[in-house]
Amino acid sequence: MIQQNVLDKFKELFGADGDIRVYFAPGRVNLIGEHTDYNGGHVFPCALTIGTYMAARKRDDRKLRFYSMNFDNLGVVESSLDEFTPDPDGLWINYPMGVMWAFEGRGMKLESGLDIVLFGNIPNGSGLSSSASLEVVTGYMLKDIYGFDVTNQDIALIGQYSENNYNGCNCGIMDQFASAMGKKDNAIFLDCNTLDFEYAPIVLDGAKIVVTNSMVKHSLVTSAYNDRRNESAQALKDLQTVCDIKTLGDLTDEEFEAHKDAIKDEVARKRGKHAVYENQRTIKAVKALKENDIETFGKLMNASHVSLRDDYETSCPEVDVLVDEAWKIPGVIGSRITGGGFGGCTVSIVKDEAIDQFKANLTKAYEEKVGKTPEFYVVSIGDGPSRLA
Ligand code: ADP
Ligand code: MG
Repeated sequence: MIQQNVLDKFKELFGADGDIRVYFAPGRVNLIGEHTDYNGGHVFPCALTIGTYMAARKRDDRKLRFYSMNFDNLGVVESSLDEFTPDPDGLWINYPMGVMWAFEGRGMKLESGLDIVLFGNIPNGSGLSSSASLEVVTGYMLKDIYGFDVTNQDIALIGQYSENNYNGCNCGIMDQFASAMGKKDNAIFLDCNTLDFEYAPIVLDGAKIVVTNSMVKHSLVTSAYNDRRNESAQALKDLQTVCDIKTLGDLTDEEFEAHKDAIKDEVARKRGKHAVYENQRTIKAVKALKENDIETFGKLMNASHVSLRDDYETSCPEVDVLVDEAWKIPGVIGSRITGGGFGGCTVSIVKDEAIDQFKANLTKAYEEKVGKTPEFYVVSIGDGPSRLA
C-alpha cells in the first residue's frame, strides 16, 4: 500500500519516533473548459483517486528536510524556514516551499521546521496536475500540523498564489481548486470569475473516463503558457475598447463575432476566440450532461480539441495523433487534449466495450507515427485532500 510505503521510507530516512502523519491530495483531469480559468470563464474538472502522498513530522528547529520517492536520485534535500528563495533551477522543493512561504506571507508563521517524504502515483508534468496535488497536500498538512484556520478553498488559493509567485507559472485557479475541493464521482462546474461552483455527478452508464499519456512534454511549457496568458490579456484589452466586459468569459460567441475586429493582432484574436467559445462550450456541455445527453457532451469535447489545436495552439503533433485515432473509433464518445498542453495527456470518454480497441488502436498508430508507446489510465473520480494516518 502506498501510504505504508511512504511511511516506511520516512521512518528509514528520518526515524520512527514522534508524531508522523500521512496525507493525500488528488491530481485532476479536466473534462472541458481549457485555458478558460485565467480568462474568467468556466471549467469542469474532477479530482482523481491518484495524486500525491506525503508523510510529515514537525521538527524542533527551523530546518526543512524533503525527500521525494519520485526523485530519489536527488536524495534528501535540505533547506530551512529562513531560506525562502526559489531554487533557480526549478528544483521540485520549490512547490512545497512556495506553499510554506505563501502561508507565512498571510501571517501563518511556521513555528518550527519539518521532515517530509512524498510519493506521487500520478505522472508528473503530464497535465494531470501533480504540481497542484503537491501544493494542496502541503497546504492541508500545514493546516493539520500547525492548526492553521484555513478552508480547502483557501488552500487552493494559497497553492495558486505560490505557483504564480514562487514557481513563476501564471496558472489559473482550476488545478488547485479541483484538487482541494474534489468530490467522489462528481466533476466541479466552476465559474473562475466568482469561484461559485456546483458539483455535477458523473454517471457514465457503460462508459469510462480514459486518460492517455502521450509521454511527451515539450520544452518551454511555462513560458508558452505565460505567452498564452499575455495574448489573451491583449485580446481582452482590445475588446474592452468596444465592449463593457471584465473578462473574456463575459462574452457570448455572437458578441465576440460582432466585436472581434477590435482585436488588432491576428494571434491575439485567435486566442480570444478560443477563450470565449471554450467557455460557452463548457456551459453547454454541463447542460447536456445534466440532460443525460452524453453524445452532445462528447461532441463539445471534440470541438474543444479543435479549438485548442487551431486557435489556442496548445496541442502538438503527437497529441493530435492520439486524438485523431480516438475519433475514428465508434465507441469513443469524445476525446481531447487536457491540461496546459504542449504534450501531456488526452481525456476520452470511451464505451466499456470499446476500451480494448481504444488502447490497441492508439498504441499501434502512436508507435507507427511517433515511435513511442502511450500509457493509459482508466480513472476514477475521487475526493479532495485527507489525512490518512
Ligand atoms: P503537472 O502539474 O501537469 O503534473 P507541472 O510541470 O505543473 O506538471 O508540475 C510537475 C512538477 O511538480 C515536477 O517537475 C516536480 O517539480 C513537481 N512534482 C510533482 N509531483 C512530485 C513528486 N511526487 N515529487 C516531487 N516533485 C513533484
Ligand atoms: Mg501543474
